[in-house]
Amino acid sequence: MALKGTDVVKRLPDGGKKNCRECGFPTCFAFAMKLAGGGVSLDKCPHLPADVKAELEEALAPPIKLVTIGSGDKALRIGNEEVVYRHEKTFVHQPGIALRITDKEPDAKVDEKIKKLKDLQFPWVGLTLKANLLALRFESGDKARYEALVKKVCEQTNVPFILSSEDVDVLLSAYRLCSNRRPLLYPVTKDNIDKVIAGVKSAPTPLVVKANSVEELIPMTTKLKEAGLDELVLDPVSKNMQEAIKNQTLIRRAALKQNFRPLGYPTIGFPCYMAKDEIREILLAAIFVAKYPGIIVLNDFDASSLLPLLVQRLNIYTDPRIPMSVEQKVYEIGEPTADSPVLITSNWALTYFIVASEIEGSKVPSWLLVKDTEGLGVLTGWAAGKFSGDSIGPFLKKSGIEDKAKTRKLVIPGKVARIKGELEEALPDWEIIVGPREASEIPAYLPGLVQKWKN
Ligand code: SF4
Repeated sequence: MALKGTDVVKRLPDGGKKNCRECGFPTCFAFAMKLAGGGVSLDKCPHLPADVKAELEEALAPPIKLVTIGSGDKALRIGNEEVVYRHEKTFVHQPGIALRITDKEPDAKVDEKIKKLKDLQFPWVGLTLKANLLALRFESGDKARYEALVKKVCEQTNVPFILSSEDVDVLLSAYRLCSNRRPLLYPVTKDNIDKVIAGVKSAPTPLVVKANSVEELIPMTTKLKEAGLDELVLDPVSKNMQEAIKNQTLIRRAALKQNFRPLGYPTIGFPCYMAKDEIREILLAAIFVAKYPGIIVLNDFDASSLLPLLVQRLNIYTDPRIPMSVEQKVYEIGEPTADSPVLITSNWALTYFIVASEIEGSKVPSWLLVKDTEGLGVLTGWAAGKFSGDSIGPFLKKSGIEDKAKTRKLVIPGKVARIKGELEEALPDWEIIVGPREASEIPAYLPGLVQKWKN
């Protein structure tokens, strides 16, 4: 359970009554409230005794640890989740989709998989959807071959990766080749834990802790944390999907509902070991996207199996309180000139991308004004008073469109034909034209409109 501001203030100097302002806040209470919300660092108060600081740091830490795998701008961040159910608030860090490569696979297959991870990217409502990391599995029994695979991946790509080997010596030897890439090491078990601690202590990297039950994970994470290794991922080995869901849910609830620190880490799931074919593997991965691993390892995928999984992940991890939206501004579709038509729509991302692509399809370069409706569609935005003549008029004036286009003709969506009168009052220099009700009618509508203007 997260600490409240009222709990924090009691632990501040003089019971929260010092009020010296050195933290930049007018009172200790104001600082405590901000601290509890995660909006400021404890370091801002110079008067905290070390033991109180340590106690507060522990109490204020997120119930599920943030773990960073890899380095640079491609690093994958998982964990830091705050809710058990997505409808309570929002899930925070999308699970990383990992593509498994074994050193037993032929070189051509390895090259194909590395290329696949780099190439399979899908533009989607202003975002790029893609898988995130590679899982490099030692299976050949040939240490040199495995290390060659690790070196190849380091040379050819900067995506994060998992080093996976049941032979701890091979695991640590491969890690020494690429420690600057912060790979995730798999697995730490009760049999190899001391060797792993000794092997990574000088250059810590994230670790997967593997045990045959959730209970067995607890002494291991405790021991690793005491050794200063706290970026952990949990693998409660599960025989089937039913057991996997039970274990994943148990860990999530223990971390979030009981604030049980030894289980306060993201988890990993392996559809690659649980499914016999690609379709079933993707179906299991889809279940895992909802509940709850931070990393999902797949044996293989192609565009047709990966895309639905990525879209599902996007939907589950989109904050339901904030509609996806685009920036309010004038967008150029094609290469519009001063004579090009001017259209207007709302800033719900889906609306914008549909309208923009239909205008593109019309082959008529145009100016598209996108009005901020707080992510609502045209009709809902109108009903909420955010796409009215009164608000569009001032927006258009400030948008700069009058310097770009000289037509002074504004095409509004047919679904809000009723705002034509208001707009004519708000924009007396402009002719307001009611356009199509559906975006799909734009490709047929725009060329005819422009032709009419020319005649
Ligand atoms: S610096 Fe510390 S003691 Fe001073 S007002 Fe801020 S929280 Fe209170």
